[in-house]
Amino acid sequence: MKRFKKVLSAIFVAALVFTGCGNNTASAASSVSSQAEASKIDESNLETMWVSGDDVNVREGQDTGTQSVGKLKRGAEVKRIAVHGEWTEIYFGGESRFVSTKFLTDEDPSSSSGRRKHSGAGFVVCIDPGHQSKGNSAQEPIGPGASTTKAKVTGGTTGVATGIPEYQLALDVGLMLQKELEARGYTVIMTRTSNNVNISNSERAAVANNAGADAFIRIHANGGGASSQGALTMCQTANNPYNANLYNESYALSQAVLKNFVAATGAKNLGVSRVDNMSGINWCQVPVTIIEMGFMSNATEDRNMADPSYREKMVQGMANGIDEFLNR
Ligand SMILES: [Zn+2]
Repeated sequence: MKRFKKVLSAIFVAALVFTGCGNNTASAASSVSSQAEASKIDESNLETMWVSGDDVNVREGQDTGTQSVGKLKRGAEVKRIAVHGEWTEIYFGGESRFVSTKFLTDEDPSSSSGRRKHSGAGFVVCIDPGHQSKGNSAQEPIGPGASTTKAKVTGGTTGVATGIPEYQLALDVGLMLQKELEARGYTVIMTRTSNNVNISNSERAAVANNAGADAFIRIHANGGGASSQGALTMCQTANNPYNANLYNESYALSQAVLKNFVAATGAKNLGVSRVDNMSGINWCQVPVTIIEMGFMSNATEDRNMADPSYREKMVQGMANGIDEFLNR
């Protein structure tokens, strides 16, 4: 009986192999006709896709059993001819070939220009361009119920080489970030859109709270020595007396923004500072980060931050960080 079963299964396997061969022959034939069609294809009309897997096989047919004619690295660009369910037909080496559809994406991984579609849909981001043209030295508590007070808002620092005031830099970059985040689908609330305002740091936090912001980003630049350099972000500590419950989220936001900012700009990474003496953080009821984009006391960083193409990199980095935080 056992023997009989073995014989039967051997016949079954043989039949499968035979069927398999038949399929291969059929797909080889269709591949040839596709190649003929592909030779007429104008590559510039094909949609660009990117490889989202590691060492992805390019095959002759729509079957893992067909010959692999090459491998594509993650991030490689391919031209798509057509999608056939699990297999995508691409133009490869002048011929029609196939890769598994699941290893392709329409997002350019190397692009910093936000090809990600609608990543911001449904999210509200509040942007606070730091400072304003005239500081307000009147005092306010540094947190709800605090006896310690601080100036409501200061004027900020000034670029040592460019003479640009920090409030102007923060506003210019903040407005660029607003535009970029809106293009990515976010709803953006600004604490200010001009320099001639008088809004204290706790009032800025209230704007973010009232908006129910999913993330609150406060844009600043640093002052220090002439050779001080690099970017950092700030959030509260895990023991903050006012909003320690937001520490985990604020820290994750701070990390994501800083990591992506440094990646986009090449700035030195000075890490995430955890502090409890910032009114604009302590009054927050939403995840918050302050970014110090660079040192205005360092002539090179000051000039960089005034440069439109560097500003674009900073904005892309911040937007990528917000994307990463909110889509984590
Ligand atoms: Zn500042």
